[in-house]
Amino acid sequence: MSKEKKGKEKEKLVVKAETKPKTTKAVSKPTSVLTEEAVSFLRTYINTPSAVGFESGGQKLWLNYIKPFVDTHFVDPYGTAVGVINPDAPFKVVIEAHCDEISWFVNYINNEGLIYVKRNGGVDHQIAPAKRVLIHGKKGAVKAVFGWPAIHTRLSNPDNKEPVAKVDNLFLDCGARNKKEVEELGIHIGSVITYEEGFDELANGYYIGRAMDNRIGGFMIAEVARMLMNNKKQLPFGLYIVNAVQEEIGLRGAEMIARRIKPNIAIITDVTHDTQTPMINKIIEGDVACGKGPSPCYGPAVHNKLLKIVEDVAEKNNIPLQMRTVSRSTGTDTDSFAYANDGCPSVLISIPLRYMHTTVEMLHKEDIDSTVQLMYETLLTLSPDTNLSYI
Ligand SMILES: [Zn+2]
Repeated sequence: MSKEKKGKEKEKLVVKAETKPKTTKAVSKPTSVLTEEAVSFLRTYINTPSAVGFESGGQKLWLNYIKPFVDTHFVDPYGTAVGVINPDAPFKVVIEAHCDEISWFVNYINNEGLIYVKRNGGVDHQIAPAKRVLIHGKKGAVKAVFGWPAIHTRLSNPDNKEPVAKVDNLFLDCGARNKKEVEELGIHIGSVITYEEGFDELANGYYIGRAMDNRIGGFMIAEVARMLMNNKKQLPFGLYIVNAVQEEIGLRGAEMIARRIKPNIAIITDVTHDTQTPMINKIIEGDVACGKGPSPCYGPAVHNKLLKIVEDVAEKNNIPLQMRTVSRSTGTDTDSFAYANDGCPSVLISIPLRYMHTTVEMLHKEDIDSTVQLMYETLLTLSPDTNLSYI
């Protein structure tokens, strides 16, 4: 999700599927998509750097993963990858996520061999001090650290105040002792920098990792394609499984690919803020919790009738939802699809996530499963005859 996003809440039901005696027809809980093979892919995918504008490493991996589930695939000039089921069908439905990872650029190298940075996407300066990074130079990745004055020494400045991390006082130390040694490592102005911390698991069904935003989306749309294949479902439309580049700097990859595909319907998935941890105001940010289900939103870019279909599908399948509202734009690729071409009915199905744009983005396994199921079941209800007319 790009940085501008804000949300407000309207909570809906959060009842667990197995305790909800609502429908007479029993709906069996599908088996988890998080098989050993799938989690192994997710781990590798999260651990593979995929900086904004330089996403090809992650995209290659993702495309190889989904190839068995689709009829054909293509890649656009800036690297957005698309798997297609029923490529000849005139009616086109997109399921979409973004693959780019917020990162830094090498901006200036001083004579002492220290490296100053510029943002590439909404990367968080507050968490940078003492982080380990990889600088992707001409000779491959070089290890470095964000240096920071020791607790013992950082009051010895003219103001006698603790320094605060800002883009212009953050610097990287790669072990080089001068500018020439930096350059000999293949590091140049414009090298992208990604954090080293990767995928891990916490107690009670939580995953953590950097850039879960939004590679968890890429993972989920791939698993939707896998479910369609495994269950031998025939769709009455072409399905385009889109992993877009450059979301974090203004929803640009989606803008390009929406014009190219010209879809009739788009279902976007991204992350949204879990608001249960300290220093978040629920009055402003809404009430969303990891583990309590996918979080679609109301907002002008979200197509009301398509959203109603998603809500009905959720109710029918006992999938709890946590509704939100957005002001003006969704801050996600939904906006790019909705306003592309002559207008494309679009809906956003987000997954709750803690600590967005840090290296410990955290989400819950059950939300992955229920978001995949919601997208899958929604696709099974859509057809070229679905009436999405407002009036
Ligand atoms: Zn983001």
